[in-house]
Amino acid sequence: MKNEKNFDYVIIGSGIIGLSIARELTYRTPRSKILILEKESTIGAHSSGRNSGVLHTGFYYPTDSLKAKFTSQGNKEMTAYCHHNKLKVNPCGKVVVTTCETEIPTLHELAKRGIANASGITLIDDKELKEIEPNAKTISEALFSPHTATINPKQILNCIVKELTAKSVQINFNEGYKARIVPNFIVTTKGNIVSAGTIINAAGLYADKIAQDFGYANKYTILPFKGIYLKHSGAIPPLKTNIYPVPNASLPFLGVHFTVTVDNAVKIGPTAIPAFWRENYQGLKNFNLKEAVSILGWESKLFLKNSFNFRTLALEEFKRYHKKYLLSLANSLVYNLNPSKFNLWTTPGIRAQLLNKETLGLVNDFIVEGDNESVHILNAVSPGFTCSFPFARFVVDRYVNT
Ligand SMILES: Cc1cc2nc3c(=O)[nH]c(=O)nc-3n(C[C@H](O)[C@H](O)[C@H](O)COP(=O)(O)OP(=O)(O)OC[C@H]3O[C@@H](n4cnc5c(N)ncnc54)[C@H](O)[C@@H]3O)c2cc1C
Repeated sequence: MKNEKNFDYVIIGSGIIGLSIARELTYRTPRSKILILEKESTIGAHSSGRNSGVLHTGFYYPTDSLKAKFTSQGNKEMTAYCHHNKLKVNPCGKVVVTTCETEIPTLHELAKRGIANASGITLIDDKELKEIEPNAKTISEALFSPHTATINPKQILNCIVKELTAKSVQINFNEGYKARIVPNFIVTTKGNIVSAGTIINAAGLYADKIAQDFGYANKYTILPFKGIYLKHSGAIPPLKTNIYPVPNASLPFLGVHFTVTVDNAVKIGPTAIPAFWRENYQGLKNFNLKEAVSILGWESKLFLKNSFNFRTLALEEFKRYHKKYLLSLANSLVYNLNPSKFNLWTTPGIRAQLLNKETLGLVNDFIVEGDNESVHILNAVSPGFTCSFPFARFVVDRYVNT
């Protein structure tokens, strides 16, 4: 073993959650020694740099959830952060449209949640919809969310990194967590031994594995779901507002939708295709046999038992690899779509979605487990980017000695 190094806080993972927690700690304890371990060579290599870039407003979530508690506030704080640091924000808004009468009760439920969660949304009729987004199609009513916006996630991550390094937070790229040795001591992939007052695990797709080394997350495992996107390449974007369908209320996914990016480009996606290993972005890259065996085992079990309608979900989602099928889904949300202009598959992302191994159900909300020595952030799925600032405050308030 090499050097032994001591820190007040060691954070595993430099995604938006790890960075936001580090930022919060620099406010609370400016003199503390903070180390962030990041296994990759760059910032934003996983979810935080591979998402839709939408600042959500929180009308999907039950009022007693952490997601409901932090989304609207997170949207405000992230928007203010971008303005303060001169980072791009596209205040493009969002509409949720219906494609059949049976979706209307769910639309009304979302409206109710939106009001309870201070999302600033309104129910509109099709005439009002036409004024907001002439290309959006709905049966009779739609939801309008004026505060939904889009940002450039990597621009934000880089800005936070700059802020943290100016405050002497140490970020070690290419150095990951490898194992826990004794309480508060870990060994890194470079063979260094690091000790910390508190170890904070914000490792995204590997957060469950690391938590288990510390005796947490034993009833969970990550079931990765891949989101792919198809981008419009024409000079004139076909819309100016995000258009979403009414989601399947039993799943933590929002359905295939149109996103207007921060640069006014338009993307269709993301899908929620079951992946076979955690970083299964493309081809056999990052293939891990042990992981694939375990994940395929869980997926086979869910398929056979059809838990949370996994069989239907998987069969439907695999069809979405086909461009024609994906475009046909998006086509049901708009009047005009020129399929030939959607011809660019862009960077896919993978959700670090938690499965409860006991109930065989997907976990909907963020989960935090830990004690005085270690804290584990699990299921930081969408809208984790939006929520990151107030969520980090909550984690530090509740779980970290400062
Ligand atoms: C397809 C998709 C679309 C999304 N769209 C949105 C959206 O529009 N709006 C929104 O608010 N949210 C969205 N999200 C969710 C959002 O991206 C996540 O909630 C957020 O990025 C989670 O951040 P994180 O820091 O937990 O994870 P990550 O960004 O995955 O960061 C974890 C980091 O830990 C590192 N790591 C892993 N293991 C180790 C180890 N052993 N040692 C050291 N480092 C390690 C990884 O390399 C990674 O950098 C989307 C997610 C996906 C996948």
